[in-house]
Amino acid sequence: MSMILLIPLFIGCFVALLLYYLSHWWGFVLIFTWIGFSISAGQILAILLKAKDKDIGRRIAILAISPVFLVFLGIIQRENLQLEETIFYLGYGVFTRVLIHYAIAKILGPFIWGRGFCGWACWTAALLEWLPLKENHKIPKRLTYIRFPVLVAGILVPLLFIWSGYDYINLHIDESNGKLHQLIWFLAGNGLYYLAAVILAFVFRKKRAFCKIVCPVSLIMKLQSRLALIKMKPSNIPCRECGLCNKNCPMDIDVMSYISRGNKVSSTECILCGKCKNSCPYGAIA
Ligand code: SF4
Ligand code: SF4
Ligand code: SF4
Repeated sequence: MSMILLIPLFIGCFVALLLYYLSHWWGFVLIFTWIGFSISAGQILAILLKAKDKDIGRRIAILAISPVFLVFLGIIQRENLQLEETIFYLGYGVFTRVLIHYAIAKILGPFIWGRGFCGWACWTAALLEWLPLKENHKIPKRLTYIRFPVLVAGILVPLLFIWSGYDYINLHIDESNGKLHQLIWFLAGNGLYYLAAVILAFVFRKKRAFCKIVCPVSLIMKLQSRLALIKMKPSNIPCRECGLCNKNCPMDIDVMSYISRGNKVSSTECILCGKCKNSCPYGAIA
């Protein structure tokens, strides 16, 4: 077994210990060790499975990670990691663990692992990955621009709440009703995302339709993922231009054009899911 498969576990442990040293909060040890362990376990499982089943390793990993965000952080710790919550905290100048999540998973981390969060750890995608949908239709390019006004709305709406005098932070922290208030926002916000994601998946016959059309978070990671250290790349086996990688890519990337020319997949839509690599019958993708 290659030690490369254990790199996510090592990174998870390193981040866990670093954040524990800086914050003295034990939760970071639990969260990042579990995330690293799940990704490494998913990768090892993929190695053990046959080609057509390899993606199950990743799908189990992303499913295993989601309770960390939804149950441990969202319900037990009262931390909603959605973009809108982050803007509320930033708007009030309050530093919380939500901001650490954004910094690691969506701002700084993508310089190393690109949009690996989308492929391996997103709690919305954790549900989408298991939908009973076999088709992978392409999303028309013009629809992918809808994400831009959604991002603007995701920033402006919390700011409008703040400017109107809505005391979100104190309502959250207040001991008597803060827990219920946070839970309502958490359930409503995530419920809305899940509902939209499932409807779009079935309407467009594509599991990742929400990621392509609506999700504002995808835009936050794009710039860094262009510069990411980890990318899908050609192996030393030539591409036969069969087109299977393109057909299986959940993000509609023209993988073949990168690989057949000997280039890394530099598209900022790549979520490092590895489906192109798993589907290549010749082993042309590393
Ligand atoms: S694009 Fe959005 S919903 Fe899709 S995986 Fe990434 S963060 Fe999650
Ligand atoms: S290029 Fe490959 S790794 Fe990237 S999103 Fe498409 S299938 Fe996944
Ligand atoms: S699946 Fe492999 S051989 Fe076929 S086009 Fe993609 S990289 Fe080339």
